[in-house]
Amino acid sequence: MSQEANEGVCTICPYCGVGCGLQLQEGEEEGEVRLKPWFDAPVNEGALCIKGGASTEVVNHEDRLTEPLIREDGEFREATWEEALERVTAEMGRIREEYGPDAMGFFGSSKCTNEENYVLQKLARRYGTNNVDNCTRMCHASTVAALRQSLGAGAMTNSMQDLMEEADVYWIHGANPSEQHPIAHSKYFKQAALEDTFVVQVDPHANKTSRDADLHLQVKPGTDIPLLNVVLRTILDNGWVDEEFVAERTEGFEDLVETLEDFDVEEAAEICDVPLEDIQRAAETYATADNAAIFTGMGMSQHACGTDNVQNLINLALATGNLGRPGTGVNPLRGQNNVQGTCDVGAMYNTFPGYIPVDDDEGRAEVEAVWGFELPPEPGLSNVEITQAAGEQIHGAYVMGENPVISEPNGNEVREHLERLEFIVAQDIFMSDTAELADVVLPATSWAERGGTVTNTDRRVQLMRPATRVPGNTRHDLEILCEVGTRLFGEGFDFETPEEAFEELREVAPIYRGITYERIGFEGIHWPCYDEDDEGDPFLYEGSFDTPNGLGKLRGVRHQPPKEVEDEEYPFVLTTARLEEHYNTGTMSTRSPTLIRRTPENFVDINPVDAESLGIEDEQYVRLVSRRGEVRVKAHVTEDVKPGILWSTPHFADSPINQLTNDVLDPVAKIPEYKASAASVEVDVEP
Ligand code: SF4
Repeated sequence: MSQEANEGVCTICPYCGVGCGLQLQEGEEEGEVRLKPWFDAPVNEGALCIKGGASTEVVNHEDRLTEPLIREDGEFREATWEEALERVTAEMGRIREEYGPDAMGFFGSSKCTNEENYVLQKLARRYGTNNVDNCTRMCHASTVAALRQSLGAGAMTNSMQDLMEEADVYWIHGANPSEQHPIAHSKYFKQAALEDTFVVQVDPHANKTSRDADLHLQVKPGTDIPLLNVVLRTILDNGWVDEEFVAERTEGFEDLVETLEDFDVEEAAEICDVPLEDIQRAAETYATADNAAIFTGMGMSQHACGTDNVQNLINLALATGNLGRPGTGVNPLRGQNNVQGTCDVGAMYNTFPGYIPVDDDEGRAEVEAVWGFELPPEPGLSNVEITQAAGEQIHGAYVMGENPVISEPNGNEVREHLERLEFIVAQDIFMSDTAELADVVLPATSWAERGGTVTNTDRRVQLMRPATRVPGNTRHDLEILCEVGTRLFGEGFDFETPEEAFEELREVAPIYRGITYERIGFEGIHWPCYDEDDEGDPFLYEGSFDTPNGLGKLRGVRHQPPKEVEDEEYPFVLTTARLEEHYNTGTMSTRSPTLIRRTPENFVDINPVDAESLGIEDEQYVRLVSRRGEVRVKAHVTEDVKPGILWSTPHFADSPINQLTNDVLDPVAKIPEYKASAASVEVDVEP
């Protein structure tokens, strides 16, 4: 179908990783942009959730940054681009000269395109550092690490389409797609459930997904490993292992058996706070299905044992032969519209584009051959480590479209650390809590004003197309990065269009090599796609895994309690998750009149038993307190959480829950433990 025939510009929703298509038209007033359904959009066929439907409300918002800003005498003043860019390059040059390249940290953004993140990470590497990362560190870094180690690729093994058509069982663990991936849920998963797919959901919070599930295992936060070990022990005891698959396609099964040798299922069920018979029923349903698919979310990944959590899901899939064909697999539901692509193109401290490890000499040499400069051979710092090292190793930060003051755990300390930096440049569409700390703020264009590619949760690379004019004195992120790179280094950043940057990305990243803008068209194309005759792979690992010996890796794991557990002073487990109406730190969604009307402020779910014992009434304001800070929110008294559990959301900058969360990291993937912090709660007496 031609673009003209659609009478609008076909592009991709800027919010979650489902990758829904929509159409945009310029409105009658200057800068106004209107949304129309794109009925032929490959992922969603015109359907949108409330967030996608309200997505144009922030494009022409009065708060948009429209001029570069420079801090002088503690205040921002408007500046010309020349002044702002001169300041940025002078400060970056000075920091490199004084402290060396590893004194800068670069923050990529899952809200930006593949091309923009590709150029940002190239800029970091040309500067001489691998200190570049993106917010996947906050969501699925552990999932990516486990999947890469044990199967080969850090992404969904299957596509939403084959999961809908072929799966007999969905095992949804630590995810709530009905709320967080609404169109994937309504168009694919709910449809499958209506057609007899059995749904097991494992989640500490009763939610929109569990209300439709056949079985909800309401696990205590941080006890996913013992729960899955009960499942695995049950499978071993009942002879439900797919022995042929295990023998031919896996290694490490003996390690799993040994780990579970003296495992006490009754004790484990008590630790999880889930009836043993429910876990065993779930195990039987999954293991005896023809095709069973696992979905995993941040309830699994955002733990200090996040990599082991996901490994145990991989153990489950491998032991039962549920990989390598339609309707099966281990499928992370990615949070943001381009978090998958941002990782794919190398905005990570340990991998170059296409997941080439920075410490792989051969791979690094291939990247150097394309880029024409020497690359740092050691992994750099992750984004949380960059903020933790601010004022010590790190003296400057380049922040593109990110808001670590609100998104990172232990937020008060993050702010203090960033305040110690000698220089911050923030590139954004709105003034965020992080941009407030910057020395230079560069006004960027929004999703509706620029083009480029994004990669959704099932590895489908799609094109975003600009629909409206560039407002005020804003510039595209790509243009800004190219200007900075050219001023600093003279060459290597002369991309006139996103497509030119994409063409270079194809040269560097084998998994994108067969993808061109022309081939993407309006349908998109799934990576890996190694040459222009390759159709792309909707599901992975049909014949072998993408590991060095082609085998999938089982590895037994044991329970590791959260690093901070409840005690007398902090008797609750505080856990967090996202809402359908809001997005990340709320910079966009809390400015949308429709979304803020639906959910105007943050809240905490507390069980009626706890509320009564503390004298807390529904809708009353309470103070949530942890070792790292305190936040005032409204109480929702509800049986959606069990006694002893508090549940809240990270979306609101005026009640920033991440001031309370724990910044302890998973040792492999360096993801913080957002999902379990010790906390207390009390009635708030302030008006
Ligand atoms: Fe946008 Fe996700 Fe909603 Fe689709 S499901 S409209 S991609 S927020």
